[in-house]
Amino acid sequence: MNPDNPDRRAPQKRLFIRSWGCQMNVYDSGRMADVLAPLGYAPTETPEDADMVVLNTCHIREKASEKLFSELGRLRVLKQAKEQGGSRMILAVAGCVAQAEGAEITARAPYVDLVLGPQSYHRLPEMVARISRATGSVIETDFPAEQKFDFLPDSTTPQGVSAFLTIQEGCDKFCSFCVVPYTRGSEFSRSAAAVLKEARHLVAQGAREITLLGQNVNAWHGEGLSGGTWTLDRLLLELAEIPNLARLRYTTSHPRDMDDALIAAHGRIPQLMPFLHLPVQSGSDRMLAAMNRGHKADLYRQIADKLRTARPDIALSSDFIAGHPGESEADHQATLKLIADIGFALAYSFKYSSRPGTPAASAAVQVAEAEKDRRLQEMQALLREQQDAFNRSCIGRRCDVLVTGAGRHEGQIAGRSPWLQPVHGLGSPHLTGQIVSATVTAAMPNSLSVRLEGNEALGPPSQTPRQEKAAA
Ligand code: SF4
Repeated sequence: MNPDNPDRRAPQKRLFIRSWGCQMNVYDSGRMADVLAPLGYAPTETPEDADMVVLNTCHIREKASEKLFSELGRLRVLKQAKEQGGSRMILAVAGCVAQAEGAEITARAPYVDLVLGPQSYHRLPEMVARISRATGSVIETDFPAEQKFDFLPDSTTPQGVSAFLTIQEGCDKFCSFCVVPYTRGSEFSRSAAAVLKEARHLVAQGAREITLLGQNVNAWHGEGLSGGTWTLDRLLLELAEIPNLARLRYTTSHPRDMDDALIAAHGRIPQLMPFLHLPVQSGSDRMLAAMNRGHKADLYRQIADKLRTARPDIALSSDFIAGHPGESEADHQATLKLIADIGFALAYSFKYSSRPGTPAASAAVQVAEAEKDRRLQEMQALLREQQDAFNRSCIGRRCDVLVTGAGRHEGQIAGRSPWLQPVHGLGSPHLTGQIVSATVTAAMPNSLSVRLEGNEALGPPSQTPRQEKAAA
């Protein structure tokens, strides 16, 4: 139904979106569904049912374009079968691979109707209309002058108890190995008013936890509520005032933008969960310079110390790259040392793989595959040990659990701990959306078992940071 005019019903069509990669892509897929809803597109579970299929791609994934073309090959058969049956399926490729390799996609897969970069999602209805009028493909991979967020409608698709909200896009850091600055453009921060409006909307739809998203989220510097520029700590403080918003998180951050005010916010804002994903990539100053990360390993150590002073129960997570071009054994050992010094609750580690067009891809000294494998295995063994130790340290601990739904087994609930671990325990799914008190009874490699304490639901913290300040 057209929400602007309930009397004018657009014919019902089916939309299938396949999303690869990060949470920002998942969020973008939701917004594409929202923007297409007024045209009569409703979500469907399979491409076979769909009148339009969108592949929302991620360039960070290894062999991203090969995977895309193999998926397109399968969809081509489906599209042709539909055409032979007298119906039409619009095939669109979105996301970072579309942005980086748009011309190649239309050359190699001319049956693709639409190729659009991440900055053009608000233009989808217009592009779909152009396709309906004409044959031939449409490419939209410019960085438009207007910001897409100004043109996207309010989200109509409830995200559930735990929701994502993009507050920032793009990146100006130009790390040697990363395609984001080329595919998502330069940094853009949404205004505080727009973020708060969307957050209130998500809470009204049932969200109890909001994770703020951005490629470089802690570089957020949006227009404040009464003019001027706010930084992320100020935005978090304001978000914490939203009634019934019990939990806040943000990802992904860069150490260079982890300033003292933001660190202090972790101690001041009870809604800000004690878990932070803060990628460091390497523990070697030489490699950090080669990666153009713009900081040294000791800065990361200092940030970790300050965070733990501000919020003693905070758990840290990070990303690591094994075998970046030029990495020596000594650099690798420096990374193992940093990991040992910090102690991570969770980490993502990858073998370096080159991304076309990035400076690292054309670096002269590439590390041999076998060497990258060995370094990755050493790194992962240590990180796994730390993750296991952290999970085991939770046993016997009392913590709040956000119940996100029914568990896999009868009579079980699923939820999230404050440290982002998936949690399950006996309880009624009626508790979905509640924060309940629980004791951790067992730790698995990637999740916790809990015993709910009386099933009493807890509200958000009794006082918001502002109320606490007023009372002091
Ligand atoms: S800060 Fe993150 S998004 Fe930006 S270039 Fe570096 S790795 Fe990519």
